[in-house]
Amino acid sequence: MSTHIQPRDDLRALEGYHSPQIEVDVRLNTNESPFAPPEAFVAAWTAAIVAHDYHRYPSRSASELRAAIGAQFDQPEARVFAANGSNEVLQTILLTYGGIDRSVVVFEPTYALHGHIARLTATAVIEGERTDAFLIDPNSAVWQIRADRPAITFVCSPNNPTGTVEPRETVLAMLDAVRDVDGLLVVDEAYGDFADWSAIELVGDDVPLLVVRTYSKVWSLAGLRLGYCIGAEWAIAELDKVVLPYHLSIEKQLAGVLALEYGAEMRTRVAALVDERERLVRALGELAGVTAFPSGANFVLFRVHGDGAAVWKSMVDQGVLVRDFSRWPRVEDCLRVTIGTRAENDAMLAALAAALEEVGIA
Ligand code: PMP
Repeated sequence: MSTHIQPRDDLRALEGYHSPQIEVDVRLNTNESPFAPPEAFVAAWTAAIVAHDYHRYPSRSASELRAAIGAQFDQPEARVFAANGSNEVLQTILLTYGGIDRSVVVFEPTYALHGHIARLTATAVIEGERTDAFLIDPNSAVWQIRADRPAITFVCSPNNPTGTVEPRETVLAMLDAVRDVDGLLVVDEAYGDFADWSAIELVGDDVPLLVVRTYSKVWSLAGLRLGYCIGAEWAIAELDKVVLPYHLSIEKQLAGVLALEYGAEMRTRVAALVDERERLVRALGELAGVTAFPSGANFVLFRVHGDGAAVWKSMVDQGVLVRDFSRWPRVEDCLRVTIGTRAENDAMLAALAAALEEVGIA
């Protein structure tokens, strides 16, 4: 029998990311925008791409892109870092501030990649708990940060998969504790545009805070892979040392700048999705055997009072894909549905009603 090299011992036990990509008519499982990017943007972008020299490397500093992102929030370029999706932003943060003999705190249930990337970078993961309403309890969070002294404390707000938005007071209390232990607070706002406040307003050079955002949701550009974070200049400078040189391609840098010209259109889309979200929460609440949780994101988590995995399977058979969290600790029998177009949402509600009946829950 031939042998071959094995990965590091601490990686061998890890499972990769798995969320099935199934070809069905209605895909409401990965929190993308249901709308294509504006046609005028695509036209401007492709014209700009053609006009560029591809035998030369792209701008290493991605200066124009970073300045354009910063301008959205009245922040200077030096407080903006961009990478290939917010996942690469998170990875760069962990490569920089995580590692052996360091730890992160996450509050479960939350975005699995925070813990996963931490483990990939040999950083210990400490799991804090959320309340029954899926909120972070500020007192216990402060206590935990002071006791465990993590290098990084993650707050996902709006939280994936629950949709919960943390109040400003909670983030402020956690920032104080993080400052006391010389750590860093990372607020993942991948869904921040759907919420009623943003931690970007707390950013400053004397604040140990990074706020992570993405082009994948609001900007209808999940296929592009572009994300960024805003934070103290000293932290951004460290991330720049760690990320690979020339990591953002020319096409990506161009798209990132041009997309921002369509902010007004995107805000209209966000408002429409928020209206649909509220309609969906009401409609789910009216279904017997279903409890829907309030959401500040472009998705809704709901619990079925029965076999959640069977309901998920029945919906897939009807051509509707949602995300199955039924086997996840703390969100047992829960499914998460992305807000789609009105027609997609209606198809989802019909498939769910039929599934509940089929599985004997309704
Ligand atoms: N953070 C959160 C909370 C997410 O839900 C996601 C997408 N699933 C990401 C980050 C990563 O998004 P992307 O890499 O597409 O920017």
